[in-house]
Amino acid sequence: MKQYRAYCFDLDGTVYKGTEVIEVAAETIRCLQQKGIEPYFITNNASVNREDVEKKLAKMGITAVRERIYTTAVASALYCAEHHASSRIYLYGEEGLRKAFAEQNLHVVGPEEADVAVVGINRNSTYESLSEVMNVIRNGATFIATNSDKIIPTATGFGVGNGSFIRLLAHATGIEPLYIGKPESTMLELVRESGGYTKDEMVMIGDNYDTDILCGIRYEIDTIHVAGGVHSKEQIQERELQPTYFVNTLTEII
Ligand SMILES: [Mg+2]
Repeated sequence: MKQYRAYCFDLDGTVYKGTEVIEVAAETIRCLQQKGIEPYFITNNASVNREDVEKKLAKMGITAVRERIYTTAVASALYCAEHHASSRIYLYGEEGLRKAFAEQNLHVVGPEEADVAVVGINRNSTYESLSEVMNVIRNGATFIATNSDKIIPTATGFGVGNGSFIRLLAHATGIEPLYIGKPESTMLELVRESGGYTKDEMVMIGDNYDTDILCGIRYEIDTIHVAGGVHSKEQIQERELQPTYFVNTLTEII
C-alpha cells in the first residue's frame, strides 16, 4: 500500500467503539508514530474539544498530538474565527462546543442578539430549546450545522444524531444550514493547510461511507475503508464512487 504523510483517522468505529479501543487500530497508530508519522484524528462529534479527545485516546493507550485532533466543535470554531470573527454567535450544543468557541475567543451571545447560530448535538434538547434556536434562525441568524449525521452510535445501539435535529430546524424555518463536518471538506482543508501537504500525500481512513469515504473522495484524496463499523465492504461496492482501498483491519495499511 502507498505511504502517505497525513493519515487522517476517523474515530468512532475506526479507532474505538464507544469507550472500547480497537486494539489493531492502536497498534497501527503506534507503528506509524515509530516511523515518525503523527496521525490526524477527524471526528464529526461536536460534543468534545481537542483536549477531551486527547484524554480519551490517552486512556486507551494512544498518544495523540492535540493540534492534530479535529472535532466538528473545533472545526466550527475555526471556521467562525475565519468567517465570522466579529459576529455575535449563539451556540446550541454541549460543553465541548462552548469550550472550542471560547478557545478561539469568539463572541458568544444569548438568543436575542445573535447574527450566527451554530447547531451541534445537544442531548439535553427540549421542545423549548429547539423552539428557541428555531427562532434565532427565523430572525435571520446565519445557520451553521456542525455535522449532518442522522444517527450516532451509543453504548446500547444508536441514538438520534445532530443531522436529524438539523432536518427538524431546516423544515421549521425553510432555511438550509452550512455544514462543517464530513462529508464536507472543511476539516481536511484545515489539515492540509496546517501541514502544507499536497492532496496526494493525504489519506482519509474510516468505517462510514457517507461521511469518511465520501469526504475523501470529494476532496480528491485517497481513501481507505475499514471493515467492522457502520458500512460493510459489500454495501459500499453497490455505490457509484469507490474508496481507494478496502481493508479488514488497520494493520494492513502499514
Ligand atoms: Mg466512524
